[in-house]
Amino acid sequence: MSIDFIKSIYYEILSYFVPQKLKYKIEGKCNKCGKCCNQIRSYGLKDNKELRLMQFFLPWYKRFYIRGNDKYGLILGCKYLSENGLCTVYNKRPLLCRNYPAKTISFNGEMIDGCGFKVIKKDFKDYL
Ligand code: SF4
Ligand code: SF4
Repeated sequence: MSIDFIKSIYYEILSYFVPQKLKYKIEGKCNKCGKCCNQIRSYGLKDNKELRLMQFFLPWYKRFYIRGNDKYGLILGCKYLSENGLCTVYNKRPLLCRNYPAKTISFNGEMIDGCGFKVIKKDFKDYL
């Protein structure tokens, strides 16, 4: 089990209990393209074994499957995404999905191409 994997579980759990501190300003709105449910960056999960462990510790991860990987780790898809890009369990989707895009995004504010949201980094004076 890698350090990155332990960190990814730690931050995942933390996100459910620690109130969001505003780190980014988010503008725009969702155009319901569904791309974010099909290109989920895992930030720390390196392989199927780690995904299975994550699914054991955090059961809502059982909806995700591996679609590929990049320099951050696995890229996941969700089995509840319909062909027309909508969530088929919208009213029961986990907090992870309800909070997206989070104002504490830890990946330098990069959004998926074509996403209707725009992430604006805050200046130092915004915290004063
Ligand atoms: S990628 Fe952006 S616009 Fe598309 S469904 Fe996700 S949040 Fe909405
Ligand atoms: S549960 Fe719904 S909102 Fe969450 S990733 Fe899956 S399809 Fe998207």
